[in-house]
Amino acid sequence: MARRPTIVIVGAGLAGGRAAETLRQEGYDGRVVLIGEEAERPYERPPLSKAYLERRVARERLFLRPPAYYREQAISLRPGTRATAVDPGLRRVLLERGRPIGYDRLLLAPGSRPRPLPIPGASLDGVVTLRTLEDADRLRIAFDAAPRVAIVGGGFIGSEVAAAARQAGCPVTLFELGTAPLAQALGAAAGAVTTRLHREHGVDLRTGETVASIHGTARVEAVVTSRDRLVDADLVLVAVGAAPRTELAQAAGLAVADGIAVDALCQTSAPDIFAAGDVAGWWHPGLGRRLRVEHFDNAQNQGVAAARAMLGRGTPYAPVPYVWSEQYDTTLQFVGDAVGADRVVTRGDPDSGAFCAFSLAGPRVIGCLAVNRFKDLAVARRLIAAGGRVAASVLADPSANLRDLLRAG
Ligand SMILES: Cc1cc2nc3c(=O)[nH]c(=O)nc-3n(C[C@H](O)[C@H](O)[C@H](O)COP(=O)(O)OP(=O)(O)OC[C@H]3O[C@@H](n4cnc5c(N)ncnc54)[C@H](O)[C@@H]3O)c2cc1C
Repeated sequence: MARRPTIVIVGAGLAGGRAAETLRQEGYDGRVVLIGEEAERPYERPPLSKAYLERRVARERLFLRPPAYYREQAISLRPGTRATAVDPGLRRVLLERGRPIGYDRLLLAPGSRPRPLPIPGASLDGVVTLRTLEDADRLRIAFDAAPRVAIVGGGFIGSEVAAAARQAGCPVTLFELGTAPLAQALGAAAGAVTTRLHREHGVDLRTGETVASIHGTARVEAVVTSRDRLVDADLVLVAVGAAPRTELAQAAGLAVADGIAVDALCQTSAPDIFAAGDVAGWWHPGLGRRLRVEHFDNAQNQGVAAARAMLGRGTPYAPVPYVWSEQYDTTLQFVGDAVGADRVVTRGDPDSGAFCAFSLAGPRVIGCLAVNRFKDLAVARRLIAAGGRVAASVLADPSANLRDLLRAG
């Protein structure tokens, strides 16, 4: 008997979940199989280092859809199932347990995993990373005992967990090898904000310093820093970035560069295999270079874009990148891309806790950091998408209406 047309999605996370939904919304009536190694149905990770960790959001609110949705939409969701190999020749996915699944189209959306910290003591009890709901549940329980927390890495996750840990009453030491938390990702203005916030909230922030080794007999007891200082700790969070999960693609012979290499239609180097989300390094036609983004907005939108492309309805994927972070009472948002910027223009007073920092390349606005300035961010996004040219003096003038610039542009 002929097999029903089948689209298989490996990775039941954000990109995979949104792709499955889109296939049905677009009217695809073949089989949709959504394979995920985690025990949970697709959920959103951003609250894991913020509202969920701080117990401000209930577990049920994290999921993209209720369980009944997958039944109603005839999406064959297979949680707790790991794909072990892809065979592009026979067009099938092999599973750790169970029979191989044949596909007509395949989407790889396995996301990324925390980078390990190869230092002595990294495998002691009490050394943790944060990627999954299970990790967040363990951290929530650990915070109840108000442990002394050492965090290695002041990127998004390290900074956010530092804020959550302080709010849970834990003493926190945050190590950032660079000049300031988030400065590497969002620039110096963001770094100044996070530095002030963490210090105001009692974080022992150590910049230009990292952890060289972790000590303890069975559990963590202390860390030794790169400046040879001893800091007592009961819990160490390793937050030194994430690596795309390219192993399936690599073993199947697909092109892999920084992530799985795809074109603007999310298509890999193998016929009928697509990739989306944290794992995909794609050709961005607007920026004219390859890009890989490990953020929510991208995973969600690229999952949708890949689903349409798998149905032959794709359009080049060329978003204005967007990312946000929440720490204490402050929301930092960044839209665009600061690569190639030759100056930064500030609008508003950074000390007031609400301002924007525009990145310019010549006369064009290419990026914008908005700190507690939601309306300005929305305008900046449109300005960047339109390739808007704006005089720096106008941008810097808080009395000038940014919406007028949009109309003029
Ligand atoms: C704690 C945390 C906080 C974050 N906060 C923010 C934020 O504030 N703002 C923001 O923009 N972004 C944030 N992000 C990033 C954002 O969540 C990710 O970019 C997004 O989840 C990526 O989606 P994805 O579908 O590519 O990968 P994932 O969501 O990681 O999903 C991939 C899934 O595939 C599964 N998988 C992998 N390999 C296999 C296999 N072989 N077989 C079966 N299943 C497999 C994985 O287990 C996983 O469930 C945060 C991330 C984390 C971890």
